[in-house]
Amino acid sequence: MSIRIVGVIGSGTMGNGIAHVFAQSGYEVILMDIQQAFLDKGITTITKNLDRQVKKEKISESDKVATLQRLKTSTDLTDLKECDFVVEAATENREIKFKLFKDLDEILKPGVILSSNTSSISITEIAAQTSRPEQVIGMHFMNPVPVMKLVEIIRGHVCSDETVATTVELCKALGKTPVEANDYPGFVANRIIMPMINEAVFALMEGVATKEAIDEIMHLGLAHPMGPLTLADLIGLDVCLSILEVLHEGLGDPKYRPCPLLKRMVAAGNLGRKTGQGFYDYT
Ligand code: NAD
Repeated sequence: MSIRIVGVIGSGTMGNGIAHVFAQSGYEVILMDIQQAFLDKGITTITKNLDRQVKKEKISESDKVATLQRLKTSTDLTDLKECDFVVEAATENREIKFKLFKDLDEILKPGVILSSNTSSISITEIAAQTSRPEQVIGMHFMNPVPVMKLVEIIRGHVCSDETVATTVELCKALGKTPVEANDYPGFVANRIIMPMINEAVFALMEGVATKEAIDEIMHLGLAHPMGPLTLADLIGLDVCLSILEVLHEGLGDPKYRPCPLLKRMVAAGNLGRKTGQGFYDYT
C-alpha cells in the first residue's frame, strides 16, 4: 500500500514535530488532538520552526507554505479513516493509548500500519488491543523531531517483517535513520538515559551540587549537548516520571525507583519547558 496520507495523534511536544517532518517530506498530514486549542498551539510551533528553517536558508519560503498547506487538523479520530499510516504521539498513559489503538483498529482500513511514539509502554501490549498486532510497531522519534536523526524502531512480539520494512523505508523517506530494538521496558534510549536523569535529580535533592553545577559537569565533562536537568525539562518531567515507573515496574529493579523530588515537581505541575517551569524558569 502506498503511503500518502499520515495521521498523527497528539499535538504536543512530539506530535507537532512528527507532523512537521511528514508534511515537509511531502505527505498529507491530519494532526489530531482532543481540543482545538492544543492543535492551534501545535500549528503555531510548527510555523515558528519552519520560519527558523527559512531564516537559516535550509528551506525556501514556498517550501514553508507548501508544508503548512499539507497539514490539516481535527479533534475527531474518525477523520483519520482515509489515512495510510498512523503515528500515535498522545500522552504517555497506558489507558489512553490502549483506547486509541482499539478505536484506530476499527476506524482505519485493514492493512494500515499503526505506530506508537511511546517512550516506554510495551508495543506488544498496545498491539494486543487490536485485531492487527502484526501491523503495530514502535516508531520512537527523538526530541526535537525536526532536528534529531534517529528513530528507534520497536518490533512487538508478533510484528511482521513487512511492517518493519515499510516503517524503515518511511523513516528513510523522512531523512531519518531508523535503528531496530526489541520490545523491552524503555527499549534502548530511555533504558539508558532515564536512570542518568533520575540520578541527577537525586544528586540535586541530596544537595550534592546546584542544578547549574550538575548540568555543567555533565555538559563540559562528558561532552553531552546539554546537562541532564536541562534535558529533563526539554523532555517533560511527567514523561520522565512515567518512563521511570514503567522501567521500575517492568524490570522490577529498585535502581529504577523515581526520585521523590521528580514526583513532587510533577505533582506541583512543574513539568519543564512546556509549562514554563521545571528545574529552570522559562517564563
Ligand atoms: P505532550 O504532553 O507534550 O503532548 C501529548 C498530547 O496528546 C497533548 O496535546 C494531549 O492533549 C494529547 N492527547 C491526550 N490524549 C489524547 C487522545 N485521546 N487523543 C488525541 N490526543 C490526545 O507529550 P509528548 O512529550 O509530546 O509525548 C507524546 C508521546 O511521545 C508520549 O508517548 C511520550 O512518551 C513520547 N515521547 C516523548 C518524548 C519527549 O521528549 N517529550 C520523546 C520521545 C517520545
